[in-house]
Amino acid sequence: MKITIIYDNCLSKPGLRTGWGFSSLVETDYAPPLLFDTGADGAALLYNMKELGIDPGQIGTIVISHAHGDHTGGLASVLKVNKDAEVYIPASFWGTLPGRKVTVVSKPLQISEAIFSTGELQGIEQSLVVKTGEGIVVVTGCSHPGVGAILKAASQHGKVYGIVGGLHGFQDFDQLDGLSLICPCHCTQHKSEMKSLFPAQYITCGAGLKLNF
Ligand SMILES: [Zn+2]
Ligand SMILES: [Zn+2]
Repeated sequence: MKITIIYDNCLSKPGLRTGWGFSSLVETDYAPPLLFDTGADGAALLYNMKELGIDPGQIGTIVISHAHGDHTGGLASVLKVNKDAEVYIPASFWGTLPGRKVTVVSKPLQISEAIFSTGELQGIEQSLVVKTGEGIVVVTGCSHPGVGAILKAASQHGKVYGIVGGLHGFQDFDQLDGLSLICPCHCTQHKSEMKSLFPAQYITCGAGLKLNF
């Protein structure tokens, strides 16, 4: 199982573009690659994919965490070059995607063999729950529903091993106790506090980062 950060506010691999927003690719042995969020800018998203050797045409599933432009901005560009991917949007997402197989997510659901959605939490956002050999890895967009609520929803599937993604203004840090991997990305405001509290678990996020499980 592999997670690649394609689009982020920060840089992990020189030569990629950065921008306010988030996008990541989740690859498992069981299903075609899954794109989780699409950043703010389609040109930058496709540029980074090309640099990372990711063929947008191979993406089988696109999941949008929530309807903010820094997560949906690149969607139209990806859909232009990928005619087949099915799309999972939270119920609060606006607009339609004609000609696509679209699943509107409210309740928790299974997306593929090893990947689940928490369902739309607090009427705003869904997160990914990925089953890995190490345990559950949660991938978040901005964590607007709150990290505690997201981890609670994810733990229905087993012990949570790690969290990757935007954590926004989260600072109730003891919610992270017991996690083995903490990789705050994108809009996370309190990265330095988390790094000093969990130095062994902390991974610095940026566009180009690859995590293997
Ligand atoms: Zn965001
Ligand atoms: Zn947001």
